[in-house]
Amino acid sequence: MSKVTEIFGSKVFNDETMKERLPKDAYKALKNTVEEGRPLDRDLANVIAHAMKEWAIELGATHFTHWFQPMTGVTAEKHDSFIQPEEGGKVIMTFSGKELIKGEPDASSFPSGGLRATFEARGYTAWDPTSYAFIKDDTLCIPTAFCSYSGEALDKKTPLLRSMETLDKSAVRVLKLFGHDDVKRVITTVGPEQEYFLIDSEMYNKRPDLIYCGRTLFGAKPPKGQELEDHYFGTIKPRVSAYMKELDEELWKLGVLAKTKHNEVAPAQHELAPVFSTTNIATDHNQLTMEMMKVVAGRHGMTCLLHEKPFAGVNGSGKHNNWSISTDTGVNLLEPGATPSQNAQFLLFLTAVIKAVDEYQELLRVSVASAGNDHRLGANEAPPAIISMFLGDELEAIVESIIDGTDYKDIKKQKMSVGSEVIPSISKDTTDRNRTSPFAFTGNKFEFRSLGSTASISGPNIVLNTIVAEELDKFADELEGKADFDKALGELLKRELTAHKRIIFNGNGYSEEWVKEAERRGLANLKSTVDALPAFIADKSIDVFTKHNVFTKDELYSRYDILLENYYKVIDIEALTFDSMVKKDIVAAASDYQFTLAETLNAKAATGLSVDSTVEKKHLEKASKLAFEMDERLEKLEADIEKAKELSETYELAKFHHDVIFADMNELREVVDELETVIPSDIWPYPTYGEILYSV
Ligand code: ADP
Ligand code: MG
Repeated sequence: MSKVTEIFGSKVFNDETMKERLPKDAYKALKNTVEEGRPLDRDLANVIAHAMKEWAIELGATHFTHWFQPMTGVTAEKHDSFIQPEEGGKVIMTFSGKELIKGEPDASSFPSGGLRATFEARGYTAWDPTSYAFIKDDTLCIPTAFCSYSGEALDKKTPLLRSMETLDKSAVRVLKLFGHDDVKRVITTVGPEQEYFLIDSEMYNKRPDLIYCGRTLFGAKPPKGQELEDHYFGTIKPRVSAYMKELDEELWKLGVLAKTKHNEVAPAQHELAPVFSTTNIATDHNQLTMEMMKVVAGRHGMTCLLHEKPFAGVNGSGKHNNWSISTDTGVNLLEPGATPSQNAQFLLFLTAVIKAVDEYQELLRVSVASAGNDHRLGANEAPPAIISMFLGDELEAIVESIIDGTDYKDIKKQKMSVGSEVIPSISKDTTDRNRTSPFAFTGNKFEFRSLGSTASISGPNIVLNTIVAEELDKFADELEGKADFDKALGELLKRELTAHKRIIFNGNGYSEEWVKEAERRGLANLKSTVDALPAFIADKSIDVFTKHNVFTKDELYSRYDILLENYYKVIDIEALTFDSMVKKDIVAAASDYQFTLAETLNAKAATGLSVDSTVEKKHLEKASKLAFEMDERLEKLEADIEKAKELSETYELAKFHHDVIFADMNELREVVDELETVIPSDIWPYPTYGEILYSV
C-alpha cells in the first residue's frame, strides 16, 4: 500500500488542491464566498470549474455528476461526460461554471411526497461548496443540494444545512451571554459508527430475500449464533481483513477519515468508525462509506449487508451518531470546562440538550423510524423505542444537586443552588458507560444510538440541531439583558432541570421495569414506525421546524408521506418475496421430502418383512402437518396482500401492512423455520443461517 499520508484525499478537490490549482484571487474569492454563505458568481465559477476539470481529467475522470441525496435515503447521480464535439469529428473536454453550480435532473422520478406538481417536474441541484468535490468511478462528483424550482427542499441535505444554520445562530447568541464575542460560527460535529455484515456472494445470490429485501425472511436458528460472545473484537479473518484494508484505502482516497474497524457481536458482523467531522461532511461521508462498503465487498466475492436486521436471532446493525457542538475558535461546548464560568456555560448547553430531548422525544424517535429499524428498537440488542438520556453518575449527581439546591458531595460541600460562581469543576467522565441508553453523554459529546444502519444520518441530525437551537433560543430570550446574570442562570438551570429530569435514566434500558417506569414518567413509547410517524406532522413539530426555517409545513407533510409510503412498500416487497419463495420452492421441498418418506414406507412394506416403520411414519406425519399449516398461513398472507389493494390512504396502508401483513409474515415464518429443521439439507432449497453466517 502507498503511504497513507499520500493517498489520503488524493481523489478530493480539497482546500490544498484548490490552493494549488486556483489563481490566488479566485481561491480567496471562493473562500470568502463559502464563509459568508453567498452564491458563487458566474466568472468565479468558470475559473473553478476549469481547474476542477483539469484536475479530474489528470486523474482519469471522463464524466461529472451532481451528487445528491434525494429522499430515497441513498445518493443519486446522473453522469455527463466532459466531451463536446469539435469540427473534424473530434471532441474537446469542457466543464463550465454553469454546469458546476447548477444541474437540472429530471426530478419527476424521485419521491417528492406531492411537493412537486406534475406539470413542474423539474428540480435543480446546486453545489454545496462546503463539501469538496471528489472523484469516484472515473466521475467528478459535485456534492449538491436538490430543490424544486419553487424552492422546496427535495432532498436530505438542504434541511440539514438549514438546521446547522439555525443552531449556529442560537449558539452564538448564547455564547455572547458568556462574553464570547469572538465566536463567529458554531458548528455541530458528528462521528457515525457504522455496523455491517459481510457474507459470501455465492450465498447471497441464492437467497432472493437478501437480494430483494436486504434481509432474510426466514431461517432456522443455527446451532451457534452469538452465544459464546467470541466474535466481538475477535481476530479478524484474513479475507475480511483484506477487505477492510482496501475499504480504508478507498475511503482515505475520498478524504473519509476511516479510523476504527473491528468485529461486532454477531457472526459476520463488523463495524467501522471515522474520526468525527462537521455534520454535513460527516453525512456525505457516511453515504460514501456505505457505498464503498458494498463496492469493495464485490471485489472480494462478498456482499455487504447494511440492513438493520439481516438475520433473526442474532444482533442487527445500527449506527451510533456521536454528536457535539463546537465553536470556530475550537471549543467543544459539550465538554465540561476547567473554570466555574466554563462549567456554567457547559451546564447551560447540557440543559438545553436535556430539555430538547425531553420536549421533542417523539421527533427523535421519528428520525430513526423505518421498517428495517423496527426489528431492532425495543428488542434486547438495541436501545428501546423509548427515548431517554444517560448522563453518567457524576453528571447526574450534579444535576440532582442543582435541582435540590443541596450540597454536591464530591466538591467540598459547595452549594450548587444558584450562580455560576459556585458551579464545581466537572471531570471528564469517560469511565462509566451505559450501552443500553438511546442517548448517552460520553464525556464531551452525546451518542444517539437508535439509528438504523441503512439510513442517512441526516434525519436525526436535522432534528437534534433544530430542537437544541430552539431551547438555546428560549434560554437566550430569558437571559439576555439580565442585570444579575448568575442569579438568572442559576434559576433557569434549576427550573429546567427539575422540569425535564424525567428524561434522565441511568439504569438498564433493556429491562421490562424500565418500560413500566418510563410509562409512569409519561415518556413516549412509540413502538413501531407507524406509531411514531404522526408525531412528525403534529403541531409541535410544525411549529419548531417552521420557526427555525428547517422545514416548511409542506416539506414536513411530504416527508411524512414518503416515510409512510416507503414503510408499506418495503413490507409489501417482503411479503411478495416471501410468498414466492414459499410457493415456488419450499412447498415443493416439503412435498419432495414427504414423497421420499412415503416411498421408503412403500418400499419397506413391499419387502413383506416385519420391519418397523415408526420413524418414517412419525417424520411423514410431522412434515405433512407442517406443510398443511404452512399452506394455511400462506393463503392468509396472500389474501391479506389482496385486501391491501383495496386501501388507498397512505396511513391506512402503512397501518395495515404493520398490523396484518407483517404479522402474517411472522406467523408464516414460524412454520417455515420449523420445516427447515426437519427437511434434509439436499432437499432444502436455500442456504441456511449457519451456511450464510459462516460463509466468509
Ligand atoms: P467509543 O464510543 O467506542 O468509546 P470514541 O469515544 O473514541 O469511541 O468515539 C466514537 C466516535 O465518536 C468516533 O467516531 C469519534 O470520532 C466520535 N467523536 C469523538 N469526539 C466527537 C465530537 N466532539 N463530536 C462528534 N463526534 C465525536
Ligand atoms: Mg460508541
